[in-house]
Amino acid sequence: SKPIVAIVGRPNVGKSTLFNRLVGSRIAIVEDKPGITRDRLYQDAEWAGRVFTLVDTGGLDFVESGDIPRQVRRQVELAIEEADVVLFLVDARAGLTSTDEDVAALLRRTSKPVLLVANKVENFQRTGQLVDFFRLGLGEPIPISAAQGMNTGDLLDRLVSVL
Ligand code: GDP
Ligand code: MG
Repeated sequence: SKPIVAIVGRPNVGKSTLFNRLVGSRIAIVEDKPGITRDRLYQDAEWAGRVFTLVDTGGLDFVESGDIPRQVRRQVELAIEEADVVLFLVDARAGLTSTDEDVAALLRRTSKPVLLVANKVENFQRTGQLVDFFRLGLGEPIPISAAQGMNTGDLLDRLVSVL
């Protein structure tokens, strides 16, 4: 069957924007307010002849009222269970947060491939903002702009190489 690729990360890092970009349509709802996606979303995507099922894990959270780090951790645990590859999305504009560190601690324990992806990098001259993310212990962050589609082809190349 098709491999499952889960996008995880705290609210507002751009999970739904990346999901929409990779499946090639606007299915997930992108919202300035965190936590607006109401359910886990599954959609098939294809790159270089490889088909996989992409999951936007932003839902089931109702994070506006709840404990965001706890709900993010639950989604990450679910993703580790069901996914074959995890895309861990962080926000290069916001910088490293303690929730990112909590997520990274969970992901370092899985034997499944994890790709660390730094979103909202529109200016590739200013990649100095990425050095903090090396501290997460998950390798070199892959800079992308999900909104602009910058470097998402490189991300997909890396992804299919570990499928
Ligand atoms: P989610 O909560 O992780 O699903 O995040 P969303 O996809 O809903 O995006 C949250 C906010 O970040 C929205 O205002 C998006 O327009 C914005 N955003 C997403 N991707 C990018 C990007 O690549 N660059 C910039 N500058 N903003 C982005
Ligand atoms: Mg979302």
